[in-house]
Amino acid sequence: MKKFKWLAIVFVVLILAYIVTVIIAPNEFDKNLNETKTLPPYKVSDKALALYNSLDFIADLHCDALLWNRDLTVKNAFGHVDFPRMQEANMALEAFTIVTKSPKGQNFSKNSADAFDNITMLNFLQARPISNWFSLSERAVYQSRKLHEFAADYEDEFIVVKSKADLERLIALKKENKRVMGGFLGIEGAHCLEGKMENLEKLYKEGVRMLAPTHFFDTELGGSAHGISKAGLTGFGKEVIQRMDELEMIIDVAHAAPALIDDVLEVTNRPILVSHTGVKGSLDNVRNLSDEHIQKIAANGGLIGVGFFDGAVTKPLTEGIVDAMKHIKSIAGVDCIALGSDYDGSATVPFDITGLPLLVEELLKQGFQEDEIRDIMGENVKRFMLKNLP
Ligand SMILES: [Zn+2]
Repeated sequence: MKKFKWLAIVFVVLILAYIVTVIIAPNEFDKNLNETKTLPPYKVSDKALALYNSLDFIADLHCDALLWNRDLTVKNAFGHVDFPRMQEANMALEAFTIVTKSPKGQNFSKNSADAFDNITMLNFLQARPISNWFSLSERAVYQSRKLHEFAADYEDEFIVVKSKADLERLIALKKENKRVMGGFLGIEGAHCLEGKMENLEKLYKEGVRMLAPTHFFDTELGGSAHGISKAGLTGFGKEVIQRMDELEMIIDVAHAAPALIDDVLEVTNRPILVSHTGVKGSLDNVRNLSDEHIQKIAANGGLIGVGFFDGAVTKPLTEGIVDAMKHIKSIAGVDCIALGSDYDGSATVPFDITGLPLLVEELLKQGFQEDEIRDIMGENVKRFMLKNLP
């Protein structure tokens, strides 16, 4: 009986410790992992601000905000993106990308798919549903639904974009009310398909419209730039790409091994994009895109989203972003250039989403023309999405 009493006490203490941890830990991770070099409010020149305020359509191709426990319908004092800050920044469209697994000791050169998974631990500490703890596809479903829930809570000011028609509606509404904005769902790494085509269909039904075959390790689809095999598409990978073409889903080759990018370009008959990347021409490392791939992706009508973080671009980061854009322009023109911030992606960025006018200021400073800046800040994404969404 005495033994039982002690066991009960230990059990209660453990439960209490878990409760305290889930209240404190997730926000601490969020704060410490998603830092900004400088904090808002941001100051820019009158000229840059006037141009920024005249932009009709501002878009970004990569944001991992759904990974965290932050309520996106309220303005938060940490992290990079939420709906009120999107409105302050006059955003039109953000890509909400879903992260489901990331290896412990994550690095650019070599990661094993079998490494301890940090996202499992994060889901446990966030007290997310137990179904999430053990299933990568359930994590993706959960994050997809969160975006829909946030949108429902934001009444008529946030649209989850799943089709050309949704985007056309968003553009029309935004002309009347600048506070209207939208987001679309993407997936960072196809390991969450768990090797099953039916999970692609399931996630499409949940509203996912973009998918990257790999994140930091090799998947059932093929090789990551940071994996072990550095291989191209597998047989299953080819099937998934073909099915994505049929569904008119957007293929994102961020983090893909060069051989996989080659294979995707050969298999797909649609334009593709790189949601967040740097370019070897301004910073040469395994993460960044070669001139040949930039030119091929651009020639097919694709997009290259330039990341805002160290490793994609050089320091100081705002200058580094524009350096990468200048290189892309010099070899492939401006029409393929887009923003690919990687906001809330466990990366330190120069400014949160309300600091985007600073990027316009730097683009002006480095000699970009007004119409080029409009294209880079969002018109290129608008044109791509109107053409390539179902
Ligand atoms: Zn990434």
